[in-house]
This record gives sequence, structure tokens and C-alpha cells, in this order.
Amino acid sequence: MPNEGNERFRSDRVAHFTESVIREMSRQAMRHGAVNLAQGFPDFEAPAELKEAAAKAIAEDFNQYAITWGAKPLRDAIAAKYRRHYRLTLDPETEITVVCGSTEGMIASLLGTTNPDDEIIIFEPYYENYGPDTDLCSATRRYVTLHAPDWRFDPAELRAAFNSRTKAIIVNTPNNPTGKVFSREELTLIAELCQEHNALCITDEIYEHITYDGAEHVPVITLPGMRERTILVNSMSKTYSVTGWRVGWVVAAPELSASIRKVHDFLTVGAAAPLQQAGVLALSLPDSYYAGLAAHYTGRRDRLRGHLEAAGFTCFGASGAYYLITDITSLTALDDLKFSRYLVEEVKVACVPGSSFFRHPHLGAHLIRFCFCKKYETLDLAGQLLKSVSSGV
Ligand code: GLN
Repeated sequence: MPNEGNERFRSDRVAHFTESVIREMSRQAMRHGAVNLAQGFPDFEAPAELKEAAAKAIAEDFNQYAITWGAKPLRDAIAAKYRRHYRLTLDPETEITVVCGSTEGMIASLLGTTNPDDEIIIFEPYYENYGPDTDLCSATRRYVTLHAPDWRFDPAELRAAFNSRTKAIIVNTPNNPTGKVFSREELTLIAELCQEHNALCITDEIYEHITYDGAEHVPVITLPGMRERTILVNSMSKTYSVTGWRVGWVVAAPELSASIRKVHDFLTVGAAAPLQQAGVLALSLPDSYYAGLAAHYTGRRDRLRGHLEAAGFTCFGASGAYYLITDITSLTALDDLKFSRYLVEEVKVACVPGSSFFRHPHLGAHLIRFCFCKKYETLDLAGQLLKSVSSGV
């Protein structure tokens, strides 16, 4: 096909997209036989009772479409969990939509609530999906910097980012890639600005239960005045170690949910029906499950941090999520892309280059992200391999 033909069949919406660096690094890891500390997914077993519940649901013939916005028992279980954990009362009929992972939850929320040329505020560094998500809505992004080492933002900069075109702010807490858990005080300021400017707050809370050292996760929807203007996106993926199941949910007031459901209905029809049944069991697990999860990841975070520091990386702290951001300046003169390539090809450890979390690559050229949602033996193997990192490469 002549070049002209190729151009003709390529949508302007996706023309400038590059593939996800995070997901590409998983393929690089496979190609080079490297330990994969890039894409954030566990390499240990998913909880046995969940696997049994999923197998049972298939055997019992939960094999046809569920209701498009989610099987009723799962929506009820989601409502019960929010009541239990946050004293938040939700109507499962009108305020909860089950979707195919939080990736769909975010894009359906944005498509359902924005118009071209609306402005969306995001904090930088940011999870890479938010770029294409907002582009697919033809929205304009405004960035507010999270400043290393503790990833605080400047309240004046945040205030200046809001204006009459601001439709929403996306807040990912606990945060990927920084590990920051936004404080109640920070979230209160965000909430006040949303109310002042009649904007939505779209929260990505997928690491809700993965917090450390006493950090408290605060859902923005529970803050005064935010019940009607928050869209909460979450999923089973990280909390229950089933990233491949693709079962997530969106919580929002009825009018917002109605718009989000319209997108969801035509985009995906629904999430996998048998896995929604297993989700009922997951969402009903006792509090001890969540405490165990946080404790289990605290140990892994500390183990990986020790290995990285021994190899000469400078680690930033993480009080949530399951990533460590490192500064490579004292190790190498290479930029993040070249150093990541060296790590996956020669050292056999895959990571994510920092530039993929910034609008301008140079802002993250000295940073590398490693995930620690792995077996101790995987983390230790990575530690062994990283000893061969030669300083001065
Ligand atoms: N959240 C994961 C990460 O940052 C990846 C999720 C995905 O690839 N969908 O590694």
C-alpha cells in the first residue's frame, strides 16, 4: 500500500501515540530473559480462594453477559465494602459501574464527562495512560509538578492551574510512579479548588490498600462537598493480585454514572461475568486480608530498596503503591532510556525509564522505576544481577 494510503487510514487521534513504555518493557524482559521489575504485576500466586471461586463460576455457567454496568452481587459487595471501610453509602443501582479494569474506568469516565478543549489537570510525574486517555477526549492537559524527594506540590501552582475551562483533575493516590500518598490536607485543598471552579475530581485509587509506615489513604469522595463531584476509579487488579482479570469499577453520583455507563455500554458491554462472581468473594474478604497485603509489600519494598542501594542507585521513599523511583545520576552518565536498555540487555533486569512519566523526556532522564510486587526470590535474583552494574557505564 502506498504511503499515502497508510496515512489515510490512520486516525489523527492516535497518529502521535507511541506504545506504552511500561508494557513494552515487559516484552523486552521476555525477549532478553530478564527479571521483570518493569510492569507492575505480581509473579506470585493469586489467592487460592479467588481462583477457586472463578473456576466454580465458570462450572456453574456464569458464562453469558452480566448486566452491562455489573452483576448485581458484585455491585452490592462493592457498596458493602465502601460502607465498611469509609462509612460511605452508595446506591449499587445508580452509583456503581463495573468495568474492564481501571484503565477502562478512567477512559470511560473522561469520555463520559469531557468535551473537546476542556482542560484536565494532572500531577507530573504521571502514570503514562493519562496522556493518551486525555488525548482520546481531545482535552488539553495542564501539569502540576510533584517535587522530589517527597513529591510535594506547590499550592500556588495548583491554584494557578485551575481556570474556567478546567473540567477535571486526575488524582492518583497512592501514586504511581512516586509512591506518594496524598495527605488529607493536600486532598482538602484539591477538593476546595474543584468546588471553587466547578470541576470534577477523578481519583485513581487502585493502590488503595497498599500503604506503608502508617500512611492513611483518604478517598476524595468522602471529603466535604465532594460526594457529587468525585469519580472514583478502582479495580481488583492490585488489591487481589489479579491484574489479568480486568475487573474494575467506577463510583460516582447517579448523573455522572449515567454518562459513564453510556460509554462503557458501547465500548466493552461488560467485564468478564465469571470473574465478577469471584469478585463478590474478593470484596467480602475480612480486614485482616488488607492488613496482610500492606505488611507483605512493606517487606518487599525494604528488600528491593536494600538491593538497589547496594548496587549504587539512589532511592526515593515510597509510602504507598509498589514501585521505587531511583535516581541514576551517581551511577551513570547514560540517560534513562540508554541505561534501561543496558539493564535489560546486559544485566538482565527490566525496569521502566523515568522519562515515560513526564511530558518532556529530559525531566525524567535521570530516573528509573522498579516494581517490587514480586516473590522475594525474584527480588533477590534481581539484587544479585544488579551487582554487576558497572559504575561509569
Ligand atoms: N500499573 C502498572 C504499571 O504501572 C501497569 C498497568 C498496565 O500495564 N495496565 O506498571
